[in-house]
Amino acid sequence: MHALESTSTTELTDLSTPEEIVAWTLRRYAGRALVVTTSFGMEGCALIDMVARHGVPLPVIYLDTMFLFPETYALRDLMVARYPHLRFENRGTTLTPEAQAERFGPELWRHEPDRCCALRKVEPMRQALAGVEVWMTGLMRSQGGERAAIRALQWNDAYGLVQVNPLAGWDRRRVWDYVVARDVPYNALHERGYPTLGCTHCTAPVAGAGPRDYTRAGRWAGTDKTECGLHYAAPEPIARKA
Ligand code: SF4
Repeated sequence: MHALESTSTTELTDLSTPEEIVAWTLRRYAGRALVVTTSFGMEGCALIDMVARHGVPLPVIYLDTMFLFPETYALRDLMVARYPHLRFENRGTTLTPEAQAERFGPELWRHEPDRCCALRKVEPMRQALAGVEVWMTGLMRSQGGERAAIRALQWNDAYGLVQVNPLAGWDRRRVWDYVVARDVPYNALHERGYPTLGCTHCTAPVAGAGPRDYTRAGRWAGTDKTECGLHYAAPEPIARKA
């Protein structure tokens, strides 16, 4: 058993605010290999702001799939400028779209999206998290699907690390209020009907959706797929391991 697997949760409950959970995490795991990951959605931007307020030079890992929206790259640049003490690191694939098409055929995202996500997201994330002990994400239970079962603090068996989800108990409206109150940069596409942002090929606007609305309806529209597989690990509360 990894030493961190037996972390006590007595100081931390789901009733804690995200800011308190972030502060607790930075205290509890000071000196550990701790990273934040983001896809530059609104939740991730809020989390980055909460972390940045502590002045700790943490790595913020993102995966450039080479299929992101221009607005997402613009937001990335804004975040880097806004939070210069954080270490933004692209750990995306080196497989170019041309090389992928040559190897697997054109438009892999259409005929085999799971393989495309495995190549461009899941495997790069697995490599990025190798050696990491504590992983902070912007996931929320209110996002539904597999995310409905997440805890603020959980052991992730698939990656063999502690996973902290400070926003677990929040919803998009609370994230939006935080972002507005703190003047946190966010993706301009949230105001043009995109509740979530992924790759250009697999993300469509959702009619009537504004920046306060969260739905994954615009992702892989017309298919059963709703997740890229990055968070596939079944949540396992640390308390059960303690
Ligand atoms: S979201 Fe679409 S384009 Fe992006 S990696 Fe997955 S299948 Fe490929």
